[in-house]
Amino acid sequence: MIELNQAQEIVLQTINPLPPKSIPLAECDGLLTSCAIHAAEEIPPFDNTAVDGFALSSSAIESGIKEFEILGTIAAGDTGDIPVSGSATVRIMTGAPMPPGSDCVLMVEDSVVTERNGRTYLSFDKKPSRFDNVRDAGSDISKGQLLFPSNTQLFAGHLGVLASLGIYEVSVFPRARVGILSTGSELTIDPGPLKPGQIRDSNRPTLSSLVREMGAIPIDLGIIPDNPESLRQGFSEAASSCDVVLSSGGVSVGDFDYTKEILDELSNGTMSWMQIAIRPAKPFAFGHIGTTPMFGLPGNPVSSAVSFELLARPAIRKMMGHQQLFRNTVSAVARTNLHRRPDGKIHFMRVSAQLELDGMVYIQPQSGQSSHLLYSMANSNALAVVPNGIGCKAGDHVDTLILREL
Ligand code: AMP
Ligand code: MG
Repeated sequence: MIELNQAQEIVLQTINPLPPKSIPLAECDGLLTSCAIHAAEEIPPFDNTAVDGFALSSSAIESGIKEFEILGTIAAGDTGDIPVSGSATVRIMTGAPMPPGSDCVLMVEDSVVTERNGRTYLSFDKKPSRFDNVRDAGSDISKGQLLFPSNTQLFAGHLGVLASLGIYEVSVFPRARVGILSTGSELTIDPGPLKPGQIRDSNRPTLSSLVREMGAIPIDLGIIPDNPESLRQGFSEAASSCDVVLSSGGVSVGDFDYTKEILDELSNGTMSWMQIAIRPAKPFAFGHIGTTPMFGLPGNPVSSAVSFELLARPAIRKMMGHQQLFRNTVSAVARTNLHRRPDGKIHFMRVSAQLELDGMVYIQPQSGQSSHLLYSMANSNALAVVPNGIGCKAGDHVDTLILREL
């Protein structure tokens, strides 16, 4: 048996980020920039008003003028070229450019407008000062500014900033195209009655969901029955059409499956067949077919999901430019005892984790922890990392991998 970190190292040392690609802004959500992005323009692009009101010259106000003639209106989108000087003012709407000669805006709420002989005049009690209610050009982003360094993960706010600068294509590490296939002649997706010995394939939907959740693209490659020709063809096609392949089943010791034989052949002997000191997910295989990383995950549903979490997910994150590859660990409080026996392995126990009002995360183990007990996966949102030994007592702090939002 090898330690988990050794297995992770064997995988990650061979994984490189995918070649960067320029893609439309709307598709960049969650992706990482592959180079630094600078602003070619300033934001706001021009001085403009923060409120609806009247554009004025503060020096005219200071000179003692009490009444200003309203010469027109500047709306957002207008060019704003009605000059304001002396006793002139213009009505101005939020976002409209400040007209020449003006340097402050009186809020409409503070204005008194009167009409005489077909002309309109503005007066006020509360005098605005220079720059009041003016949003300066470049006050948000200046021209040439470093916006986002390389490897910045792009979320809603980043997309808004880029759009405001007219950056509609971004060079990013693309979403990995992850081929997912199941091996085993016992597997079916027939909704009808099962034939003797058959079970339904549950690994592909689970793995597809996990792949999609991390921002990569799952590619469903179906079920491959356990015969050499089908496996050879299935694995070859998978490797040539995807950035990385996840296969489940056929990696245990003493397996009758042809998976090992065919993967050894197609990978030119680069597959490492590992027994990792963890439970579940002890058997695991990894290598390359051509240049495509190939993950041989165990067939048991819980094992394949845990194996994905601990070994495949970090590698796919690395392909997508991430530097933080592993899940966050929190020190959680066990609500009940976490029983286990010493076996030289780290146990990753399915738990339901909750954030309580005291700010602590509390964990409750699922009752069944065997790797075929798939139902418990549905009700767990975290994996408690229980070191070799006799387990933990209620109230103990336990490192816990948070898999979903609490
Ligand atoms: P294997 O690793 O192929 O020996 O499979 C271990 C166990 O997991 C066996 O009980 C298989 O029937 C089961 N299994 C393998 N693949 C799947 C799958 N895709 N969905 C559900 N169970 C599976
Ligand atoms: Mg099998």
